[in-house]
Amino acid sequence: MTTELLFRDDAYLKTATARVVAVGERGIECDRTVFYPQGGGQVGDTGVLLRADGERIAITDTRKGDAFDSVVHLPAPGTALPEVGETVTLEIDWARRHALMRLHTALHVLSCVVAAPVTGGNIAPDKARLDFDIDMSLLDAQKIERETNALIARGIDTETVWITDEELDARPELVKTMSVQPPRGAGRVRLLRIPGIDLQPCGGTHVKNIGEIGAIRVLRIRSEGRRNRRVEIALAG
Ligand SMILES: [Zn+2]
Repeated sequence: MTTELLFRDDAYLKTATARVVAVGERGIECDRTVFYPQGGGQVGDTGVLLRADGERIAITDTRKGDAFDSVVHLPAPGTALPEVGETVTLEIDWARRHALMRLHTALHVLSCVVAAPVTGGNIAPDKARLDFDIDMSLLDAQKIERETNALIARGIDTETVWITDEELDARPELVKTMSVQPPRGAGRVRLLRIPGIDLQPCGGTHVKNIGEIGAIRVLRIRSEGRRNRRVEIALAG
């Protein structure tokens, strides 16, 4: 069953009331959710599902379900499970998610500092990385850090834009990340625009203004295979 993805329109929603629509081996599905399911390089949200009687069910991860736009909340092993039809309150671990949003948006900025095809990426709560198809000699950690932080300091508002599949097909240059397919499915594709800096398909969660990222640090740059150069970053504060 399709889940209403509340984080897609408002990444700052920390909590929502929802109805349980399925409880299975894989986890708990609701009619709507604030939990982001692992995808596009961003890890799944954690948090808690609160039952009406006050019982707290810890959610240790969130994944996409089998159906289009469906989301499965993974409960901690051994916890009680809610009943189908029950109304519950969903609460994400906001500190963790906000760090993910800041790091995720930082990768959009980083992808514009390093002028090379992106071959992969990952966002965890404590660090994030992008892989580039580029010669190692062209990557200077201090320069990347300085230029990324200079762009972040511009404090530009981010925008979500939707285009049709056909519009995206007509503009293949928008797809920078070869390993992550654009979030297609309903005939339209979601893009993140940072005016003057970046525009690319992305289904993830972002901060409203890049100034909210704060300064980043380049943790390391290393070779990952013949063509991959991995740039790993963390939030400086
Ligand atoms: Zn994104």
